[in-house]
Amino acid sequence: MKYQLFDLLIETIGDPKTFNCSHKTGDGLIVKGENITFKPGTSYFSHYALGSLMPYIAAKQRANQEGDFMFFESEIACPDPLCGARFVFKRTTQRTYDYEPIKK
Ligand SMILES: [Zn+2]
Repeated sequence: MKYQLFDLLIETIGDPKTFNCSHKTGDGLIVKGENITFKPGTSYFSHYALGSLMPYIAAKQRANQEGDFMFFESEIACPDPLCGARFVFKRTTQRTYDYEPIKK
């Protein structure tokens, strides 16, 4: 069975003067299929921030209808209410995957 997913680039944006955490503008993550890696040049990423992004990753990998907020909303705020960092999702390459469930 074939299906398509977008690769994602998730980058930190905002004014570093407003960051309450150790974020760095431009740092980010790359999502390809089930795998997450650091964007080149990124040496660390807050696990609290990652936890807040995780629910959106599977949805952002899939095509949405234009009226679906998941289609046009692309920024997620840092979960620290005192932190001004945001994380922007960018869809990059759309890849086709092949999945064959294990027959039991
Ligand atoms: Zn933060």
